[in-house]
Amino acid sequence: MTRAAFDAMAAAARALTLSNAALAKFAPFPDAFRWSGRSGAGIDAAAQVARWLADGEGPEADLHRAVAAAAPHASWLHTYTEAEVGAHFLENYGYFELFGPVGHYDAGGYRAYVVYWNAGLVYDWHCHEAEELYVVLSGRAIFRSEGEPDVELTRGGTRFHASLQPHALETTDSPLLAYIVWRGGGLGDLPRMGRA
Ligand code: ZN
Repeated sequence: MTRAAFDAMAAAARALTLSNAALAKFAPFPDAFRWSGRSGAGIDAAAQVARWLADGEGPEADLHRAVAAAAPHASWLHTYTEAEVGAHFLENYGYFELFGPVGHYDAGGYRAYVVYWNAGLVYDWHCHEAEELYVVLSGRAIFRSEGEPDVELTRGGTRFHASLQPHALETTDSPLLAYIVWRGGGLGDLPRMGRA
């Protein structure tokens, strides 16, 4: 049961990548990937995501539904400590690696995450060496990147972050669910808070 839920999520991520030109150009979907046997449980965000029922049709909504179905079994993580972002943030945020070295599938150099933020959260400035592309699956948020105007993105919207370019986001009246792919140097790192 668990494995089938993850395979459905991987298939939905493939369909999304094939349908989204910016995503396909940023990092082609891997030809092959291998189930890691990893699963997990817990954290508050898992239950929030499992309860969030996607409306609409299309590859973003399909991946959202697959994520919601697998959410209770996913290997949820928090990059940050309570000292860095506060308890409220950690109760309303979480991510898991779908493809990558600590994720549910090993896919060579391809590294992709599913990330959730509840409504009314400020994800403060942070950066990392790897280049990054966000694809919004559901909800909306205001995306901030150093040197660029703020932009509000909704389903299907994409946002590119260059290597070490500081960025932040803020959810307003809706949660946000995103599929995020990394590439380039620093693939093994974690994001760190701050603008440098
Ligand atoms: Zn980032």
